[in-house]
Amino acid sequence: MAKLLEGKPIAQKIKEGIKQEISALGKKPVLASIQVGGDAGAEAYAKSQKKTADALGIEYQFHKLAQDTIEDKLVGFINQLNVDESINGIIIQMPLPAHIDYKKISQFISPEKDVEGIHPANIGKIVFGKADLLPCTPAAVMELLNETGMDLYGKEVVMVGHSEIVGKPIALLLLDKFATVSVCHIGTSKAGKLEEHVKKAEFLIVAVGKAGLIKGEWVREGAVVIDVGINRVEGKIVGDVEFEEAEKRASIITPVPGGVGPLTVTMLMRNLLKAAKLQQK
Ligand code: NDP
Repeated sequence: MAKLLEGKPIAQKIKEGIKQEISALGKKPVLASIQVGGDAGAEAYAKSQKKTADALGIEYQFHKLAQDTIEDKLVGFINQLNVDESINGIIIQMPLPAHIDYKKISQFISPEKDVEGIHPANIGKIVFGKADLLPCTPAAVMELLNETGMDLYGKEVVMVGHSEIVGKPIALLLLDKFATVSVCHIGTSKAGKLEEHVKKAEFLIVAVGKAGLIKGEWVREGAVVIDVGINRVEGKIVGDVEFEEAEKRASIITPVPGGVGPLTVTMLMRNLLKAAKLQQK
């Protein structure tokens, strides 16, 4: 039976370090959060971010803009925050109203204040192994892998999912650890080759958003499994991997919920601290 790799205790340890560093900074870092419209999910997420920020000694500034805010106006507001020296980081809450293109808008955040690590300049730095502000979910996955204490050098790693802010950055970060990385995506599934790839994984990371996509019996004996997926099935939150069967075969597995999730907001706050320090220099 696999050992459960939970995110909370790791997050707790990192948060203690952040708190200490913030008190040594002598000044509260400031995170500006923008929500457009009144989506309940976005509001709940912002509330939970504020709670974490308060506990760490971070000032959380919440800005709620009207549902019908046009893109130009939102860009104008972002620019205002970009030039405001009292602001260290900027985050845009999701989902945005349908008339706003998130990919386009997020590029207007100054890379130095991009605490979600999603600006092309920050994503690009990953290629050179020089990222200051990593996207939060990839950073969380790397913390979980680090916690296993296992060396990735020369290991067969399979990344399922190739989105810009989750799958692709994770694959690059793993490459930097000299793992042999295969990236699977919709094309792999359509070609009927997903099972074949998953079966060879010594480390399997899945970020798709489809419950039960990875059959438990595909998991290699002794594999480390990190399930990033979040799916709601019959009122329950589950990952992308069939947990019960996978747990019997893996050596280490993350639960959903409780694996990657608790770490992502901590990574956001760690980025804010990094941004504040970089801006001080
Ligand atoms: P995206 O929808 O942006 O990406 C999903 C990826 O899965 C795409 O690369 C897509 O390929 C690929 N894909 C779709 N269908 C298949 C298939 N049948 N076989 C193989 N690959 C497939 O999602 P994200 O990357 O943003 O997130 C992935 C999951 O992780 C979601 O469930 C999300 O909720 C969760 N998540 C969890 C977080 C946490 O804190 N725990 C944080 C962030 C995300 P293509 O685009 O080519 O179709």
